[in-house]
Amino acid sequence: MENNEKTEGKKLEEELFNSKKSGWERATDEEKGLIYTFSNEYMNFLNRSKTEREFVKSAKELLDKNGYKDLNSVESIHPGDRVYYINREKSMYIAVIGNKKIEEGLNLVGAHIDSPRLDLKPNALYEDSGFAYFDTHYYGGIKTYQWTAIPLSIHGVIVKTNGEKVEVNIGEDENDPIFTITDLLPHLAKEQMQKKLGEGINGEDLNLLIGNMPYNDKAVSEKVKLNIMKILNDKYGIKESDFLSSELELVPAFNARSLGFDESMVAGYGQDDKVCAYTALRAVMEAGVQDKTAVCILSDKEEVGSMGNTGMESQVFDYFVSELLNKSGENRPNLLNKVFCNSSMLSADVGVAYDPIYASVSDRTNSAFASFGISFDKYTGSRGKAGGSDANAEFIGKLRGILEKNNIQYQLSELGKVDVGGGGTIAYILANKGVEVIDCGVAVLSMHSPYEVASKFDIYSAYRTYKVFYEEA
Ligand code: MN
Ligand code: MN
Repeated sequence: MENNEKTEGKKLEEELFNSKKSGWERATDEEKGLIYTFSNEYMNFLNRSKTEREFVKSAKELLDKNGYKDLNSVESIHPGDRVYYINREKSMYIAVIGNKKIEEGLNLVGAHIDSPRLDLKPNALYEDSGFAYFDTHYYGGIKTYQWTAIPLSIHGVIVKTNGEKVEVNIGEDENDPIFTITDLLPHLAKEQMQKKLGEGINGEDLNLLIGNMPYNDKAVSEKVKLNIMKILNDKYGIKESDFLSSELELVPAFNARSLGFDESMVAGYGQDDKVCAYTALRAVMEAGVQDKTAVCILSDKEEVGSMGNTGMESQVFDYFVSELLNKSGENRPNLLNKVFCNSSMLSADVGVAYDPIYASVSDRTNSAFASFGISFDKYTGSRGKAGGSDANAEFIGKLRGILEKNNIQYQLSELGKVDVGGGGTIAYILANKGVEVIDCGVAVLSMHSPYEVASKFDIYSAYRTYKVFYEEA
């Protein structure tokens, strides 16, 4: 029979089912061009912003170029003003002041700019058997075995007792040396290979190889260590004790690259959560002045529980909002609470993309798929939603309306199977203050590894989502 007519069932199916498919199937050539251009800009930014301090620096450069002012440098703020506040070089808040009063609520998009890595211990430098090493203490949830036998670079600061701050960034330039952590050859690894994966490489054994050349003087006991210290003294003017007041981070020395013959994905270090941080930054800059004040949060220490004075748990964000109220002339007792209760937020953090190689940990029906659009997690937490933040249906309904009106593809997902595990973001911290919050971001593969994978379609869809949220929520 001729089959030009859709059957009743087919028509009903199209009308009633939530059809899930790759966003690339619907993307026009023009959209694909926008997606690829945006992704290139993202990769360039990521390659010079591998740590929280570097991200803040790159973001400040971009904001300064675009007319943003340091909130501390202005006496008063008015609708249309663009300001930022930098907290100890590691986190920052950006605001575009809206036409309505701030007490009517903020539209917030909040991401984090710290990523799992290896930090140097305070007493890092030592010599053993003709090699010099830096001893490390890992930061955040890593699989230790992934950090051996790859090129690593050193980023951070060393602060001398006179307050002078030395910035370190070595291993990124192609003329720089790189560093690595050695692994055992398979020939002698019989015992190691029988260990559980999590025990194959001890965290304590993540020691960075940094030199092998002795200082030429018989009287010296640790010649290789001395030679390294001499090089560091010449280059940075530091002594060994200056490491006591340093923050040096080891990150992969390779750059973010397009992945696949079709170049449909980005592979790169630190996409958790710099992919959401960058898209949120671009969104707040490009959304324009709206009725509600738009705020972008770039927080630190999310990977270790958001504690400390640069983490989201600190009162610094409250202080920032209070300063907005002070400088707009609106402030009065307890107004901050009202601001939070009137505010909405997208907690912009990466999700888990369904990985067919590790399918057993996921509930396929409730998984996020790469290239299917930005991924919302209604709730986080683990084993019975414990400790998670759960978004209200009313808020999700409103957001769905905005996304569908703007033809932005999105999906709602869970991290993994109910009993398998879980995780958290900064969402609960703002939700506890009274803000309407939901987690949403780019779903990635190989999360927390040295080379995370994200779909370019999803990256662009996150950017569009954050932008329309500022414009229309
Ligand atoms: Mn994250
Ligand atoms: Mn993470």
